[in-house]
Amino acid sequence: MSSDSKSKKSEEQWRRCLSAQQFHVLREGGTEPAFSGRYHDCKTPGVYVCAGCGQALFDAASKYDSGSGWPSYRQAIDEEAVATREDHRHGMRRVEVHCRQCGGHLGHVFADGPPPTGLRYCINSASLLLKKET
Ligand code: FE
Repeated sequence: MSSDSKSKKSEEQWRRCLSAQQFHVLREGGTEPAFSGRYHDCKTPGVYVCAGCGQALFDAASKYDSGSGWPSYRQAIDEEAVATREDHRHGMRRVEVHCRQCGGHLGHVFADGPPPTGLRYCINSASLLLKKET
């Protein structure tokens, strides 16, 4: 059984295991209001995992303060952890980022980040859970 199939849940199953806001972001591609999430200002060391499936997504060491009001990272923890696709919704051309394991929507990636990657992964707090370093 591939790692894919274990994360293939029905909409009803996702609704049962996620909060309303997590469901809106992860499964409907929603965006939480800026500065409203629990991680935008968080500087705690650890690893941010997918709130849908637990896949490790971003190391807190790559997090920086972009001033955007959403958690922002220079890079994913691993190239295989996330995947991207073009997103033309809302009259914009953006690159959407999602969890490769469960397909959950995370946010968008922009090319206005700091060196060395020049990338800004702009991610919804609602799609993440922080596993603190112990
Ligand atoms: Fe996931």
